[in-house]
Amino acid sequence: MSVFWNKRTVNLSPYIPGEQPRDRKFIKLNTNENPYPPSPAVVAAIEQVLVVNSQNNGNNVKGEKLRLYPDPLCTEFREAVAAAYGVKPSQVFPGNGSDEVLGFVFGAFFEGDSDAILFPDITYSFYPVYADLWDISYRTIPVTEDFSININDYSVSSGGVIISNPNAPTGRDLPVSDLLQLARKLEQNNRVLVVDSAYAVFGAQSLVPYITDHPNLLTVHTLSKSASLAGLRVGFAIGSEELIEGLFRIRDSFNSYTMDVLALAGGSAAVLDKAYYNEINKKVMVTRDTTAVALKEMGFDVIPSKANFLFITYPGISGHVLFQSLRDKGILVRHFNKPRIADYLRVSIGTSEDMDAFLVACREIIELPGN
Ligand code: PMP
Repeated sequence: MSVFWNKRTVNLSPYIPGEQPRDRKFIKLNTNENPYPPSPAVVAAIEQVLVVNSQNNGNNVKGEKLRLYPDPLCTEFREAVAAAYGVKPSQVFPGNGSDEVLGFVFGAFFEGDSDAILFPDITYSFYPVYADLWDISYRTIPVTEDFSININDYSVSSGGVIISNPNAPTGRDLPVSDLLQLARKLEQNNRVLVVDSAYAVFGAQSLVPYITDHPNLLTVHTLSKSASLAGLRVGFAIGSEELIEGLFRIRDSFNSYTMDVLALAGGSAAVLDKAYYNEINKKVMVTRDTTAVALKEMGFDVIPSKANFLFITYPGISGHVLFQSLRDKGILVRHFNKPRIADYLRVSIGTSEDMDAFLVACREIIELPGN
């Protein structure tokens, strides 16, 4: 707290990101990063930015591209996304990670003074933070006992809806037909449906093919998980041109250069290298499913997941104790100390070796006398 803070700053409850440990070495299963390296094409594209240059007095000057501002329209990147997803570049909004894109989304499409926007009570914990930042009233809709979203609960008057599909941290997904039905309902009242698709490549159905028929449907994507590029910070939204134009209006009232030259080059290479990413993400899905089976055999409850993580609980051991016991054994997972989910852990899917070590640790913990 400081006397220099304005009221807005005082009243914020910022998002708390998962731990990025600097000291001890952990098997890191806490922030849904992809365990495999990025495509070699991504690294080559970034290196190319650094070494290819104009001549300066006959010398090849390294880093020349860093001297200039990046392309504010992100043309090359938007063309790459458009080609990869079968849309037009004008239907793509680029950003510095999908968190930033989501922040702009709340600012562009949700109102502060009308009907509350809706999202599930158990979902990505950044949504209420953005809503508070932009002074948007929101109402959370409880997910069912088994963490499913009942789409009919959202068929009420609202200022718009945001749903993560698959949802985080549960991993459960919704059928496309449910989401399109909701999009149609919202369109009648000029409201937007945002589908946060951060984990969609791990088994959920894509909504991108439907953005042309649904001008109020915006899908938000990230390369952090699907393309092993959490460190590069690349996200994007796909939707109708009018939605994309709205996002640019917000962005350009804030910072016109949200993607730097390295992110533009690396991000473009990533979305175009489908073969590489299909292969590693298939491995992640296989590891997820075998890990789920092993956990169930041990007695864990495992929520069915279409994401690159599992949401699990063990009868009789609190989420906090499980989290801490795993941490003591060098395995970092995510625990949310929140109503309804305090006894659950979200476990990102690592390599099969990571998950074997995780399973061994789980077995040791549950077999401990007293547990
Ligand atoms: N949406 C969801 C549902 C997420 O879990 C995350 C990752 N924390 C993001 C968006 C943001 O991802 P990024 O900013 O790395 O693109």
